[in-house]
Amino acid sequence: MEYQCTCQVVEVEYGETEIVYCPLHKSAPELYEALKEVLNDANNGSFTSLAGSVQKLGEQALAKAEGGK
Ligand SMILES: [Zn+2]
Repeated sequence: MEYQCTCQVVEVEYGETEIVYCPLHKSAPELYEALKEVLNDANNGSFTSLAGSVQKLGEQALAKAEGGK
């Protein structure tokens, strides 16, 4: 399945542009933070909580990526 990126560069004023991100790319920083937290847990050896945090953070990040909010 290919993701259709709809990011756009729009001109807001003469010579001034702004990027309007598509839902997936808008949520990229959160996906990144979620991944960091999960890997941090893994590196700390807290494997008992790892599955739980993967699920929780993953679900939140995906909901955001797919919901576009
Ligand atoms: Zn995009």
